[in-house]
Amino acid sequence: TDFAALGVAETILRALSKEGYEKPTPIQAQAIPDLMKGRDLLGIAQTGTGKTAAFALPILTRFAAERKVAEPRHARALVMAPTRELAAQISESFRAYGRFMGVQVATVVGGVSYGGQLKALQRGVDVLVATPGRLLDHLEAGNVRLDKTDIVVLDEADHMFDLGFIVPIRKILAKLPKKRQSLFFSATMPREIASLAGEFLNNPVEVSV
Ligand code: AMP
Repeated sequence: TDFAALGVAETILRALSKEGYEKPTPIQAQAIPDLMKGRDLLGIAQTGTGKTAAFALPILTRFAAERKVAEPRHARALVMAPTRELAAQISESFRAYGRFMGVQVATVVGGVSYGGQLKALQRGVDVLVATPGRLLDHLEAGNVRLDKTDIVVLDEADHMFDLGFIVPIRKILAKLPKKRQSLFFSATMPREIASLAGEFLNNPVEVSV
C-alpha cells in the first residue's frame, strides 16, 4: 500500500486496513517520511486532516522496530492535548493502530480519579496522552518521570495557548531530555504560537495542509 511506501511497519499496516484506511491523507504523506528520519515537525493542520495518524504512525513504527518495554514510572512518548475529549480520541487512535503490537497507552486528564492513572503510570507506558494540568500534578507527585521520553507531540497548540496551558507546558517540557524529537501542531499560527514553536523545535520540517 501507499502506507508501506512511507515506511510504516508491517504490524501497523494490518491495523490500518482493519480501520479501512486505503491511502495516506496529504498531511500523512508529507509528514511521515521526515518523522521516520527523526526530524522535528511544525504542522499547520486542523482536526479532520488525519494529523493524529501523521504523528502516531511514525512513533509506533519506531516502537515496533525497537522491541523494548517501557520502564516502570516512565513514558517513552508524550502527547499533550488541550481537552479530555481530544486526549481520549488520540489514545483510541494509538490503540487502534497499535492493536497487533501490544502498545501500552495511558490517558492522563483532569476530572477523573487519580487511582487508575497512577496504576498505569507505575507500570510504565509506551505512549502517554495527557492534558497539561493533570500531567503536571502527577509529575510533581513523582508518579511518572519524563527523563527518558524522547518524542513529544504538542497537539492543537493554539487551543492550548487560549486555555492558559503555556506555563504548565513549559514546566513539563523542562523535564524532558534536550535530545529528543518534537512535533508541534496548530490550526493557526499567530505570533505568540510561532514564537513558542521556534523555542520548542529544532530545525523543523514545516507541513501545512
Ligand atoms: P484526525 O484529523 O486525526 O482527527 O482524523 C480525522 C478522521 O480521519 C479520523 O476519523 C480518522 O480515523 C480518519 N483518518 C485518518 N487518516 C485516514 C486515512 N488515511 N484514510 C481514511 N481515514 C483516515
